[in-house]
Amino acid sequence: MLGDRNLRGMVEKALDRLYGDINIKIDRDNSDRIHAFEASRCTRLAYYERKDPLPPDNAARVSILLDHGIRKGFSHVKGEYRADSLILEAEADMVVGDDFAVRFEIVPSLPEVPHPRHMLYLNACLFALNKSEGFLVYMTADGKTVEFDITRNNRMFEEVVRRARVLSTLLKEGKTPIVEPSDLCMTCKYYTRCYAREKIKDQPGDFIAEIFGSGSSSSKKKK
Ligand code: SF4
Repeated sequence: MLGDRNLRGMVEKALDRLYGDINIKIDRDNSDRIHAFEASRCTRLAYYERKDPLPPDNAARVSILLDHGIRKGFSHVKGEYRADSLILEAEADMVVGDDFAVRFEIVPSLPEVPHPRHMLYLNACLFALNKSEGFLVYMTADGKTVEFDITRNNRMFEEVVRRARVLSTLLKEGKTPIVEPSDLCMTCKYYTRCYAREKIKDQPGDFIAEIFGSGSSSSKKKK
């Protein structure tokens, strides 16, 4: 305690403020305006973030602060794409020359291939900013990098627009999108809303023994 103030509480409040300031700005009340960031990852997660958000846990806050610290020096170029009443927003970290958009992704370890949701997002940036080619740069906290280049792809963009339309419609109707199982689920703060989780109280050995029978062939006594 610092006097009658709780130091930990003060630090957490400061982190919350900072997190609120730097998090991607999404117009939560306008269901016709969908960010490509929302449409390229789990739409159920995007729905919860708008309609019934949970506060981020400490790991998420620190990861976003780190991400922001690395991105801060870039120019951030915003654009939007209109498809009827739907407006799809996207933001590249930088634009090089007339044709190239660049997006950085901060990761714990460098991937062998680009992640589909990162490709969908960068491709949406190409359409929103009217660029023909993009560079996806993965970077670790200790400065290792790997780059992938992608060219504008209509089918990938149609998929993002389709997902954005679904999200927009479900937001208007107040209906939760279906569960989208993916690697994101493992660290998602909405995990328990999507998956029933019951801990098995018995020892794992008992459970295995129940499935395979307690007397395996090797443990049976010969008469
Ligand atoms: S747990 Fe998975 S399906 Fe559920 S909201 Fe999170 S990412 Fe989406």
